[in-house]
Amino acid sequence: MKVLIIGAGGREHALAWKVAQSERVTRVFVAPGNAGTALEPRTTNVEIAAEDVPGLLRFAQSEQIDLTIVGPETPLVLGLVDQFHGARLRCFGPSRLAARLEGSKAFSKDFLRRHGIPTAAYATFTAGNFDPAWIRAQRAPLVVKADGLAAGKGVVICATIAETVAAAEDMFAGRFGKAGETIVVEEFLAGEEASFIAMVDGEHVLPLATSQDHKRLRDGDQGPNTGGMGAYSPAPVVTPQIHERVMREVMSPTVQALAREGTPYLGFLYAGLMIAADGTPRVLEFNCRFGDPETQPILARMRSDLTVLCEAALDGRLDQARVDWDPRAAVGVVLAAEGYPDTVRKGDVIHGLEAAARLPGKVFHAGTAQRDSKVVTSGGRVLCAVGLGTTVRAAQRQAYELVATLGWRGMQYRKDIGHRAIARE
Ligand code: AMP
Repeated sequence: MKVLIIGAGGREHALAWKVAQSERVTRVFVAPGNAGTALEPRTTNVEIAAEDVPGLLRFAQSEQIDLTIVGPETPLVLGLVDQFHGARLRCFGPSRLAARLEGSKAFSKDFLRRHGIPTAAYATFTAGNFDPAWIRAQRAPLVVKADGLAAGKGVVICATIAETVAAAEDMFAGRFGKAGETIVVEEFLAGEEASFIAMVDGEHVLPLATSQDHKRLRDGDQGPNTGGMGAYSPAPVVTPQIHERVMREVMSPTVQALAREGTPYLGFLYAGLMIAADGTPRVLEFNCRFGDPETQPILARMRSDLTVLCEAALDGRLDQARVDWDPRAAVGVVLAAEGYPDTVRKGDVIHGLEAAARLPGKVFHAGTAQRDSKVVTSGGRVLCAVGLGTTVRAAQRQAYELVATLGWRGMQYRKDIGHRAIARE
C-alpha cells in the first residue's frame, strides 16, 4: 500500500519512519517532509505544502494513495479530511467541524461546559463585549487564551488582575492577529500536566501509551512556553486510576458528545490535562492531532502496525484493535535553534548526524533541510533525539548520548527531560 503523511515536523518524521517499517507498505510520501524523512527507506518527499489542500488532493488522486495520515492541525481546520473523504480517499484525521475542538478555544470550552466535562471555569469575550469588571470579580492568577490557532503561543498566564486585563487588551489590539479577536479568560488550575492521546474511530477510543511533555524552554520548567522541548513515555503521573478516570470522565464523553452533535471524531485526539492533587483530571485544551514531540517517544515504543490501526479506525473497528508496546521507557530531547521560541537563525550546518545514526536510539528531524550535501537548520525545533531504556533514567541517558554527538551554532536544549518521572523512580 502507498501512504501519504502530511506535514514537515518531528511528528511527521516519526509517523513516516513508523509507517515505512510496515510490511504492507510499499511507498511512503511525505508532503512536504524534511531532510530526515528524505533519508528513510521507501520514503519520498513531495514538494506540496501541508496547507495546500487542493494540491494534496490532486497528488493523492494521481498517485492512488491508499492511506493518508495528517500530522498538523492547519490542514484539518481547513477541511482537508472532508475533501479527501469526498473524493473517496482513505484519510485518518478529523473533519473540519470536529477539528473545531482545537481550532477554536471558545468552541471547545462551550462544548466541555455543555456536556459537563471537567475544565477550568471561564468566560469568552470579544473587543465588543469585553467586561473588565468580570475579570476584577475573579481571583488571580488567571489565564488568557486567544481563541484561534496561534502555534501554541496564544496562552498568557497572568499573576494579577491588572496583568489579565492588559493581556486581554493586548490580544484585542492584534498581538495574535485574527486568532485573538475572541479570547477565553479562565481560572488557573494547579496540579501536574499530562497529555492523553488516543486514536478515535467516531465511536470508540483506543488510548495510546501515556506521555508527558515539557513546554518551558529552560531546565526546571523555567522560561517561556514553547511548542515542546521534550517528552517521555510512559508518564507515571497517569496512574492506572487516573487513566481510568480520564477515559470515563473526559475521552468517552467527548467522543460520544461529538457523535451526538453530528460531528463524529475520527483521528488522533489529544487532551491536554491538568491533574489535581486529588487525581481529578481537567481539560486544558484539546488538540486534534498527535502531539509534537510526544509522537516521537510514543511511536518509538509502538510495536503494532500503525497502518493497521488507522485502517481499523477508518472502518469503525477500533474496539477490536489492540496496540502492543515496548515495555521500555522512551525519552525524546528536542534540540532547538538559537533564538527559539522567538525568531531563529536558519541555515546552520548540523554536525554529527552520521555518528548519531550508529548509536542506539533514533534522531528525528523537524526543522531541517538539505543544502548541497549537508543537512542545515531550517526552523525553531530542529531535531528530537529519542532514547529507550528499562527506566526513564536509562532512556534519558541514551537520548543524551545522541545529543552529545550533535551540534550546530547556537543549538539549545534542556538537560532535564524526564525529571519528574525520574524523581518518581
Ligand atoms: P494550552 O495551549 O491551552 O494547553 O495552554 C498552554 C499551556 O498553558 C498549558 O500546557 C499549561 O501549562 C498552561 N495552561 C493553560 N491553561 C491553564 C490553566 N487554566 N491553568 C494553568 N495552566 C494553564
